[in-house]
Amino acid sequence: MLVLSNVHAFYGNIQALKGISLEIKEKEIVTLIGSNGAGKTTTLKTIAGLLRPKTGSIQFNGEEIGNKSAPEIVKLGISLSPEGRQVFPRMTVLENLEMGAFSRKDKAEMNGSFERIYALFPRLYERKHQAAGTLSGGEQQMLAIGRALMSKPKLLMLDEPSLGLAPLLVETIFQLIREINEQGTTILLIEQNARMALMIAHRCYVLETGKIVLADDAKHLLESDAVKKAYLGE
Ligand code: ATP
Repeated sequence: MLVLSNVHAFYGNIQALKGISLEIKEKEIVTLIGSNGAGKTTTLKTIAGLLRPKTGSIQFNGEEIGNKSAPEIVKLGISLSPEGRQVFPRMTVLENLEMGAFSRKDKAEMNGSFERIYALFPRLYERKHQAAGTLSGGEQQMLAIGRALMSKPKLLMLDEPSLGLAPLLVETIFQLIREINEQGTTILLIEQNARMALMIAHRCYVLETGKIVLADDAKHLLESDAVKKAYLGE
């Protein structure tokens, strides 16, 4: 579905990605783990068209997207739920969700998407007329994921969806990610909570200073002593 080949990306003179190659197959959950500053967020931003790769190729269902704009990439079926929630605080829950559907023309069918999102996150339905900025952290996180789902993505990218949430809510968010995946959405997930991420992911890539240093089935990595020591704090 998505293939990155030797992608290099820069912020000014700073090279953040130093030749990333990875692949995501349809219906998979793939996770990226690695220490702070390894390039995980940058990888998602580059796929989403928010940062242009300097060299290398990004193919989505056989089409080169490395030169496309962010809105074009959303239209093709890739959506990003960004780190730190980044909802529109003065807009209501409903308006935030509508913003996520900017690329869609099938306005009549959008009701189906609202229903899907409200079924996944009943709390958002209860609060649909509330200003997003007044939601709790967990609710804002749910809204960010819901908004990303409004474009009906084939590939949903989640940047730290459990950041700052209480343990019980972390469980809920991971359960929901699994559910979204079981409904047919492919997922690329970044998580500080590497253990939880590996438990729901099929495969994992480990990043170190802009490079992939390890790629394997999530189950294998969970059992690896080196990975436990370096990334799971054990
Ligand atoms: P974290 O787990 O801390 O979020 P990360 O793996 O997501 O880390 P990135 O945010 O992708 O890391 O950052 C990769 C590198 O690029 C870091 O060295 C960071 O300082 C640098 N970087 C990120 N964003 C910018 C920016 N807007 N301008 C300049 N440098 C940046």
